[in-house]
Amino acid sequence: MTTLTKVPFVDLKAQRESIKAEVDAAVLKVFDKGDFILGAAVEKFEADYAAYIGAKHAIGVGTGLAAIELALRAYGVGPGDEVITAANTFIATVLAITAVGATPVFVDMDRERYTIDPAAISAAITSKTRAIVPVHLYGQSVDLHGVLAVARRHNLLVVEDAAQAHGATYNGTRVGTFGHAAAYSFYPAKNLGAYGDGGLITTNDDRTAEKLRLLRNYGQRVKYSHSIAGTNSRLDTVQAAVLGVKLRYLDGWNAARRRHAAAYAARLNKIVHTPVSAADAEHIFHVYVIETDRRDAVRDALRERGIDTGIHYPVPAHLQEVCADLGYELGDFPVTEAAAGRILSLPMYAELSDAQIDYVCQAVADALM
Ligand SMILES: *Cc1c(COP(=O)(O)O)cnc(C)c1O
Repeated sequence: MTTLTKVPFVDLKAQRESIKAEVDAAVLKVFDKGDFILGAAVEKFEADYAAYIGAKHAIGVGTGLAAIELALRAYGVGPGDEVITAANTFIATVLAITAVGATPVFVDMDRERYTIDPAAISAAITSKTRAIVPVHLYGQSVDLHGVLAVARRHNLLVVEDAAQAHGATYNGTRVGTFGHAAAYSFYPAKNLGAYGDGGLITTNDDRTAEKLRLLRNYGQRVKYSHSIAGTNSRLDTVQAAVLGVKLRYLDGWNAARRRHAAAYAARLNKIVHTPVSAADAEHIFHVYVIETDRRDAVRDALRERGIDTGIHYPVPAHLQEVCADLGYELGDFPVTEAAAGRILSLPMYAELSDAQIDYVCQAVADALM
């Protein structure tokens, strides 16, 4: 066995090596063609991605944040509206809600699944509630049965935040098809990542799709004819070419992540808490999160052996400075807060080798001896 000295948290270079020729050819084709704004590569990728997810429409936009924001705007969510989301999410979910002028309302998570607790959603509903933004966190679907039941009962809009869940399924169907719309991010380190920023919205609703195409492109259907106050948030054509190549590999990469997760669990489940895959969902392990009382000591010990880790997320959204005006306090979401002090994300990417997984598991075990 080779002696390792480093395991990165993600290794984009390893992935790049495996697809270099194909991606470079696709990118050069865009350069030669010169249709840099929207154009053929964007249309092709949108069609391919919609087919992959099983959604009727896919609309490419500038970022994952913009995808959530524009989906909310397309449905008219704005000032005076409350939008319920999880306290344990990346800040983009929250900033998309505030960007449209609505008020984020946080709720706690399910202890095992790490995703929004449907019972907590019910308890947070007021006469101002307009929408729910459930987040398929870490690559595992939320309890969609529970979330959709609450939404139907109260006639609420559902915009799935699927930024960590490209290809994840719920009862055999891909997430991103259950809500009114779903938002994806193609930030480079996501399961499907561009070589820069990118985002996309899926929806089965024709009118919403049409509105989103206007919103992302200055509100224009025809050049210099502006029907609504849109913005400039288009999926970059060069990025669409990159993503079009990478989409063909996504299922294989997600399967590799699941194999790595199983290998981690087999080695670690007696010494730390390992992720629980829900029976109704296929987890694609955007991140692999363990829990231990001695999180900081384990993290330090791994760093000393050259192993990079992450914490997703160290400070829950309701305790972020940017949310201070919302009036939440420590103690409001005990499940989320307790997990924040215990969670640790181990290296996870498709190209991870068995030797690297061994090395990481040994380091965790040694740290906890
Ligand atoms: C990455 C991410 C986003 C935002 O995506 P960007 O492309 O970085 O704007 C939104 N929500 C979640 C849960 C994410 O992980």
